Formats: sequence, C-alpha cells, structure tokens
Amino acid sequence: MEEKKLTPKERLQIPTQEMGEQDPKERIHNLKEVPFGYTPEQAKLEATRCLQCKTAPCVAGCPVEIDIPTFLNQICEGDFKGAAKTIKITNILPAICGRVCPQEEQCQLGCIVGKSLKTVDKAVQIGKLERFIADWEMEQGAADTPEIKAATGKRVAIVGSGPAGLTVAADVRREGHEVTVFEALHKPGGVLIYGIPEFRLPKAIVMTEVENLENMGVEMKYNMVIGNIHSLDELFEQGYDAIFVATGAGLPMFMRIEGENLNGVYSANEYLTRANLMKAYSFPETDTPIARSKNVAVFGGGNVAMDSARTALRLGAENVYLVYRRSRIEMPARVEEVHHADEEGVQFLLLQNPVRLIGDEDGWVKQMECIKMELGEPDDSGRRRPMPIKDSEFRVDIDTCIVAIGNSSNPLIPDSTPDLETNRWGNIIADDQTMKTSKKGVFAGGDIVLGAATVILAMGQGRLAAAAINEYLKNGEW
Ligand code: FAD
Ligand code: SF4
Ligand code: SF4
Repeated sequence: MEEKKLTPKERLQIPTQEMGEQDPKERIHNLKEVPFGYTPEQAKLEATRCLQCKTAPCVAGCPVEIDIPTFLNQICEGDFKGAAKTIKITNILPAICGRVCPQEEQCQLGCIVGKSLKTVDKAVQIGKLERFIADWEMEQGAADTPEIKAATGKRVAIVGSGPAGLTVAADVRREGHEVTVFEALHKPGGVLIYGIPEFRLPKAIVMTEVENLENMGVEMKYNMVIGNIHSLDELFEQGYDAIFVATGAGLPMFMRIEGENLNGVYSANEYLTRANLMKAYSFPETDTPIARSKNVAVFGGGNVAMDSARTALRLGAENVYLVYRRSRIEMPARVEEVHHADEEGVQFLLLQNPVRLIGDEDGWVKQMECIKMELGEPDDSGRRRPMPIKDSEFRVDIDTCIVAIGNSSNPLIPDSTPDLETNRWGNIIADDQTMKTSKKGVFAGGDIVLGAATVILAMGQGRLAAAAINEYLKNGEW
C-alpha cells in the first residue's frame, strides 16, 4: 500500500484528524451524541500517522493492553474487520471505551507522535479510531460471537452489570462456564446506562454490547439486589462455584453544608439517573419527573459534574453555574468535556466554594452562598490547596442544585457478608493481580475495589479477575 512507503517525517506532517460535531447552539436542545465520528477516509489518514514503533508505549498505557500498532496498521490497509478482531481480543467494549476512556492520560499519553510534536493533543487519536472500528462493525450487523469452549458444568455468579461485571461475564463464559449476572436495576450497564448521558454515550451501543453477551449464553437477571434478596452464601448454596462482586461506587457524597436537605437539591447520581435511566425528560409520558429549572448550580469539577451541568442545559435551564473550588487546571474532568461544557454555555465559577444553601418559606432552595478561594501550598494530592478569602462571600439566585463531589462504595454487600474484608472507605479489599477477596470463592473488581475510577480500569480488573476465576475453577486452589 502507498501509505506504507511514507517516511516517519511524512507521517508526522499529516494533520490530526478532527471529528465533525453538532453545533453547540443546536445540541443543547437535543440529546443526540455530540461528535459524529470519523469517515473511513479520515480513519485511514489518522491511522497512517502511526509510526509503528517497536516499543509501542501506547500499548503499555492501555489498561487492557490492546495491540494498538496492529489494529492501526489494519485500518491503514482497509481491513476494518481485522482491526475489530484485534481490538476485541482484549477489549469487549470498544465502542464504549473509544468514547469515554481518558485516552489523553492513557494510551495516547506516551504516543511517540504526540511526543515528537510536543503535545499530547497531536498524538495518534487511538480512541477515536477504536470508536470508528467498533461503530463500523455494528453497522455491518451482528458481531461475530466468540468461540465458547465445551461446557465445564461450573457456575459463576456476577453481581453488578457495569463494565467490570460485563467483562468478567464474557471472559468466563468463553471458557465454557455457566454465567449469571445479577443486577439490582431493571437495565444492564451500570454507570454506562444510568450515569453517562446519551449525548456522550448512546444507550443503544451499551444495549448492543449486552445483547452480544446474551448471544454468548450469558444469563441476565434484573431487579436482583444481592445482599438483600440473596446473600453471597446463599448464592454458593444455590450451586454457584465462584462469585465476582462488581457493585460499583454508587453512594453519593454530600458537601455537609447548611441547606443541603432543601427541596431542589439533588445528588448527581439521582439527577442523572432520573434523566438517563428513567427518561424523565419525557415526563409525563414517562413515570419519573425531574426539576425543570431556570438557574442551576452544580458543585464539583469532574466528569460527573460536567455531565450534570450539560444535562441541565438540555433540560432547558437558562443559567447553569459550575462551582469549583480550585482553578480550571486542577479540574479532574477530561479536557474534552470541559471544552464541550464551555462551548455550550456552562458558566464556570472557579476558585469559589459553596458555604450554604438558602431556602424559601416552602422549603425550596432559592439561593447559594459561596466564598471566593485562592490556591495555597500543594496538599496530599499534589494539587494546590484551596483557601477561603476572608469576607468574600456572595450569593447567587438558584432554583436547583446538583452535588457532584464524588461517590463512595455501596455498603450492602460488605454489611451482609461479615467475612468480606473492606478498607476504611468501605471498598472491598482484593489482591491486585487475582482480585481474590478474603472470602473463598469470592472475587471483586471495578469501582467497589478502586473507589470511583474509570470504565477501562474497571474492565482491566475484570480481565484479571476472570483469568483467576478460570484458573480457580480448573484447579480448585485458593
Ligand atoms: P458500575 O458501572 O457502577 O456498575 C455497578 C452495577 O452494580 C450497577 O449496575 C449497580 O446497579 C449494580 N449493583 C450495585 N449494588 C448491587 C447489588 N447489591 N446487587 C446487584 N447489583 C448491584 N469513566 C470513564 O472512564 N470515562 C468517563 O467519561 C466517565 N464518566 C462518568 C460519568 C458519570 C456520571 C459517572 C457516575 C461515572 C463516570 N465514569 C467515567 C466512571 C465509570 O463509569 C466507572 O468507573 C465504571 O462504570 C465502574 O464500573 P463498575 O463495573 O465497577 O461499576
Ligand atoms: Fe486507549 Fe481506552 Fe482503547 Fe485502551 S481501551 S486503547 S486506553 S481508548
Ligand atoms: Fe503508533 Fe503512537 Fe503507538 Fe507508536 S506510540 S505505535 S506512533 S500509536
């Protein structure tokens, strides 16, 4: 192929390919995905930027170690089917990871093209190419079902259907074990379904990935709150040989400030679940209502805060204030999400911190009081510590407030399983290579172990756990 004859210098001169996007003025009035994805021509051109380096630092940066140079070379050659196969050896959810992975901190961070051009923004756009291939495969119809080995007669229970649980389901099922996924909600996908909004991750994609698992013979059981309906010991009594706990970190944290119990104050989890899972934007056609607000305050600076702020805009809010106590550089949200929120008109109140919420006579929030902050010396996290500036308080009129300052683990399973060890934050303690817990036959991974982390880290732990479960079911050694 002609592309192969290009010198590294010529490859470095190919401009980074940008995806087309919906206009910000239009997209705040709909829930459709913001970027359109690459065309096949763009994908080939972008993949041609790869230098096929022998050391491939991109692979080491990917928590599931996709063979990135191989799949990029397959794209250059127009072998999209081959590229999909390469990716799926280690990643069963490429359409999702290609969209939501923090690529600039993972696979793309060490990319030699980015290093040579002195900015990670110009690294080979691995995530966008992964998304292109996964979307292309979906457009072709049903994906190939992976080969399933002969039935072993062993049974595995998976608790939680987020990315960690789904990854284990696929890898354990491939070995020929029977797999049942128990999910507390009425739909699968965990945060992928109830947290991340449609305009960032279309739900049809998640449902297609789950259908692929069902085609492999994985059984999904919904409305099953384990720890409540059945304990882990009862699952063993029902004949399961191993259990993987992947219940995530769904317990919202609050600011603990005056007025947080007022009406109109939501945790981001509740707000996003109402909007995404329960489709409250269509109320009264759907059962669940949500505040139709004019002035919304969102507290926090991570992806969850950006998702909440951008959802509030799409639900018709006139002013959405994002209140964050540090500056923009310290914001933990992905740069792309901050950029999109900015374009859409979210108003950033940086270096400001809410100190109390003020209600009206009927108990509804009507104002927030904030204080201005300045940055002091670095704290334990390495980020400069925000310090309040004396007598700088001010008030802003609001009618809705969304608290998005973090989540911790749900205590239901640890509380109902006394022999399962947890750390002081309530996360289940598991070996970082085998994901074995203190209880024989029980493995755990994803946010319930890591605390609130990322999709691909949850999947990475799922892969480790699945390998260890397969080994345990083969030789019975704990
Ligand atoms: P989850 O996805 O939380 O899934 C856990 C599942 O277990 C849920 O379905 C839950 O209902 C179920 N469950 C809980 N308790 C029980 C029980 N007792 N019995 C049965 N089922 C139970 N990460 C990124 O990489 N990129 C992003 O852009 C990004 N954006 C995010 C935006 C939001 C709004 C949120 C909340 C998170 C975001 N994350 C993002 C983080 C990412 O989604 C999580 O790290 C990831 O989903 C964790 O996967 P998991 O499988 O461990 O748990
Ligand atoms: Fe990069 Fe995520 Fe894909 Fe790995 S899974 S190559 S980190 S986008
Ligand atoms: Fe290609 Fe960048 Fe990986 Fe090198 S580091 S193989 S240039 S994607």
